[in-house]
Amino acid sequence: MELNENARIDTSQVDDRRGSGGGGGLGGIPIPIGGGRGGLVGIIVAVLVALVGGGFGLNAATNGGGGEQGDNTSLEQKCSADDALQQLDCRNTLYVNSIQAYWRTALPEAFGEQYRPSRTVFFSQGVNTACGQADSGVGPFYCPADDLVYIDLTFYRVLAEQLGASGEFAQPYVLAHEYGHHVQDLLGTEAQMRRQQQRDPDNANALSVKLELQADCYAGAWAKNATGTADESGQKIFTSITEQDIAQAIDAAEKIGDDAISERANRPVNPEEFTHGSSAQRKEWFTRGYSTGDPKSCDTFGGAL
Ligand SMILES: [Zn+2]
Repeated sequence: MELNENARIDTSQVDDRRGSGGGGGLGGIPIPIGGGRGGLVGIIVAVLVALVGGGFGLNAATNGGGGEQGDNTSLEQKCSADDALQQLDCRNTLYVNSIQAYWRTALPEAFGEQYRPSRTVFFSQGVNTACGQADSGVGPFYCPADDLVYIDLTFYRVLAEQLGASGEFAQPYVLAHEYGHHVQDLLGTEAQMRRQQQRDPDNANALSVKLELQADCYAGAWAKNATGTADESGQKIFTSITEQDIAQAIDAAEKIGDDAISERANRPVNPEEFTHGSSAQRKEWFTRGYSTGDPKSCDTFGGAL
């Protein structure tokens, strides 16, 4: 994978809140990147139980609600410098730019809906969101109540060192998965899925898996089209993406499968407890999105919503 050093990094698509902590009430339901009940996820589960236990009532979208605004001044400076592409946060900002550039065109094309941009909040340790207070252990997530993606960039170290997915392309995959949830929010898929869960609580986990696999498939569709994305002045964002990069995304998708996470934590693998899908399923759906390049091929619900 190579990023184009002439592409402008648009930092207005992120909100840099690193350095500010969190604390506060509970609202909607955050949708994290991986599920499971142990390991990475030991901490994560504690937080999730707290959040999900808070109730299934989603707040109306209130952009920025629940959280404080960050300060992008130093990020802007850093990402307009010559060595910007050496910086993890600037590269991740550019990934966000590419993912949103893709959906600006793809969402109207595939579904006849206008894309509404969503910012990614960089935080460290803890953050206030309209879905409640979250700490880094929860991993990256999308909060439907404030339409924002949240990530502590140190998650990539966890992904590489604890989960064994060290390839760079795991990073845009993670972000593209979260933006997949934003797209589901815009299309109403997420809200429909929550209603279905209430009608059919026995299948709540199975429904959650379908939502997650669809986000993986959307990430694959982006990956297929990523080399076609450009900044506002038309400069391409990626100069190349190779099969090896795609293999890294697939590897990451597998490493955060529910069964892989259970096994890592030496816990019995119980498909009924899956909330994100098995490694094989995550690989399968990312690959489907990538091979078709078409988000319409991502109907994990089989028309059942
Ligand atoms: Zn997810």
